[in-house]
Amino acid sequence: MFIIGLTGGIGSGKSEASKILKSLGAKTINADIFGHSVYKKNTKVWGEIIEEFGEAVLDKDGNIVRSKLANRVFSSKSELDKLNRICHPEIKKLVIKELDQFSLDSVKIAVVEAAILIEANWTDIVDEVWSIESKTSIIFNRVKKRDNINRSVIQSRIDSQIDNATRLKYSDIVITNNGTIEELKKNLSGIWERKFISRNKE
Ligand code: ATP
Repeated sequence: MFIIGLTGGIGSGKSEASKILKSLGAKTINADIFGHSVYKKNTKVWGEIIEEFGEAVLDKDGNIVRSKLANRVFSSKSELDKLNRICHPEIKKLVIKELDQFSLDSVKIAVVEAAILIEANWTDIVDEVWSIESKTSIIFNRVKKRDNINRSVIQSRIDSQIDNATRLKYSDIVITNNGTIEELKKNLSGIWERKFISRNKE
């Protein structure tokens, strides 16, 4: 099984790229979804978060309110680091478990979509890192439209992620996504064809 680690900053187009790779035949995993499940009540992560951030991040039923937690961590690098140290290893375990299942199911090409792939040190569980990159001005417009959040919130999310130069250093392939979805599709189909189809025909 060949595992692609699909990464990129906020709003760069990872999910759109993942959808396209799925349509080309890959089995995809979105680490964000596991990110949500590790917060569930009475899990290891849940307990450690309460210990670290206090009960102010809970609702009246004892569930973690992600928006409360997000407000705490996105304005402070050290708080975000604390949260990441608690969550990332647990999410990684879930991703590995899913990849193991893919392997048992004889999946040929898998995609792990994760914004945090590089900073969480997950490069060791993928064969190649593919980064999606878009211009900051385009990201602002797309994320504003998608999430209805203002520029300063988007900027603080960007600031909390690794910069493009660092991402580039770890990337085997960089896919630029400044055009239409059709262009992104064409770009990814070309890479897919060169990497997985024509090479096998040789
Ligand atoms: P995040 O890390 O914030 O979840 P992401 O990298 O997964 O973001 P997407 O959700 O794929 O990014 O894209 C952000 C928004 O921009 C979405 O609403 C998506 O539909 C839109 N988008 C992405 N690429 C394009 C494109 N080439 N043309 C038009 N809209 C796009």
